[in-house]
Amino acid sequence: MAENKNIDLISDLIKAEIKNYENKIDTSDVGYVLTVGDGICTIYGLDKAMYGELLSFPNNSYGMVMNLNEDSIGAVILGKDNDIYEGDIVKRTGKVVSVNVGEALLGRVVNALGHPIDGLGEIEAESYMPIEAPAPKIMDRQPVDQPLETGIKAIDSMIPIGKGQRELIIGDRQTGKTAIAIDTIINQKGKNVICIYCAIGQKNSTIMQIVSKLKEYDAHKYTIVVNASASESAPLLYIAPYSATTIGEYFEKKGRDVLIVYDDLSKHAVAYRTISLLLKRSPGREAYPGDIFYLHSRLLERACHLSDRLGGGSITALPIVETQAGDISAYIPTNVISITDGQIFLSTDLFNSSQRPAIDSGLSVSRVGSAAQTKAMKSVANSIKIELANYSELLDFSRFGSDLDPVTKATIKHGSVLMEVLKQKQYHPLAMEDEIVDIYIAQSKLIDDVPLEKIHPLLAKLDGYIHDHYPEIYQTIKETKELSQEIKDKIVLACKEVRSILAIK
Ligand code: ATP
Ligand code: MG
Repeated sequence: MAENKNIDLISDLIKAEIKNYENKIDTSDVGYVLTVGDGICTIYGLDKAMYGELLSFPNNSYGMVMNLNEDSIGAVILGKDNDIYEGDIVKRTGKVVSVNVGEALLGRVVNALGHPIDGLGEIEAESYMPIEAPAPKIMDRQPVDQPLETGIKAIDSMIPIGKGQRELIIGDRQTGKTAIAIDTIINQKGKNVICIYCAIGQKNSTIMQIVSKLKEYDAHKYTIVVNASASESAPLLYIAPYSATTIGEYFEKKGRDVLIVYDDLSKHAVAYRTISLLLKRSPGREAYPGDIFYLHSRLLERACHLSDRLGGGSITALPIVETQAGDISAYIPTNVISITDGQIFLSTDLFNSSQRPAIDSGLSVSRVGSAAQTKAMKSVANSIKIELANYSELLDFSRFGSDLDPVTKATIKHGSVLMEVLKQKQYHPLAMEDEIVDIYIAQSKLIDDVPLEKIHPLLAKLDGYIHDHYPEIYQTIKETKELSQEIKDKIVLACKEVRSILAIK
């Protein structure tokens, strides 16, 4: 009997030991690094980790859960992976990756986690918000009905953008994509729009130039630059646009209007491809992973015009995509084209023939913005696209050198005048009323007989002349947002007077 009792005791002890032993190696919140390299880390343990959760590594390093496998976890390291070794302990934080948000970010340059990188001191975060958030539901949205003025004549007239719209800027390298975005930001001065410029995979020197230009034009006060430069690791490039959107949503939820530029999503897709391949996800078309479409759709779906019940704020998104040799039918361009509400296509040929901004009016479209266009702009701009299409068709035809009839000649001249009027210098966005006067003059054939090289001097002189002698023209258009016959007559009169001053018959 006594022997049996002893055996029972021993087996109880062993059972208790086994129970405790299991407790000691509880792997729900702690794991160990199995492998690390190229910014990717596989971890044993962390059984309860969530997708997208922030992980804490030794030496103040952080990572984000990207793969939940049966017996391991794949995580990306946010920052450098030099200080992480095999066998290191990894802890869950229970939080998803979050970013600093708040008014204090205005005028600052931050990294993908919202930390300052401009050397101007710490930023007092109002709160932290997760970088991934569900897009607003259909009932939480309202149609786009207010214009977001870019200050660029060709865009505001032919491809108008409304607050809450997603308009893609697409073109080959060095065709003025960034220039359009920066001019749009500069044009928001005094318009109560918060601007966020999210740079993905660009050179730090380029960002420096952009920041100094924003300062020069006094646009930095209402702008936040989120920078994940080419020198940073792919995971930071991957999260940067989501962080930028979260920073924007903070303002949007307060009923403010926000403009976000993603420069550019081609590099973003490449960064995500890098991560996916390193995580051993299976590659699909052009080696991109299967969820590459979802990558950008869940980002751009967050841009919208919130309903009045939710404060009526908006996020307007200007994603930029780089094409190779003008091929907009490549994989990433077609993906993003199908997600956005239109695209501004920039052509290398136009750029090289000094038509700048090099907007190809035939391939560019805005699917929702015209609902937000002012009456005045609509009235002067409605036929420009068709006139330019006619012009380019006839121009091709006239290259054969055949004799042209007077009507064709006139159409070509009118088109070339329109094209000339739509040329605009960088960093010179125009007020809506200035644009309308310029386009009205060109469109109503008042200057079709003027030599092309004299058109811009004429427009510049006219602008000053109207300010001095007919200020009511600008004022009325600005206030009423309409172009009455009386104002039209005055514009015609001013134009005639300036032509005689400049001796342009
Ligand atoms: P990348 O592919 O390198 O990002 P990008 O398409 O963003 O180039 P930008 O950097 O905006 O192009 O512009 C290319 C060059 O064209 C710059 O030197 C810029 O100053 C010039 N440029 C852009 N727009 C205009 C314009 N409207 N008038 C004159 N020059 C312009
Ligand atoms: Mg650029």
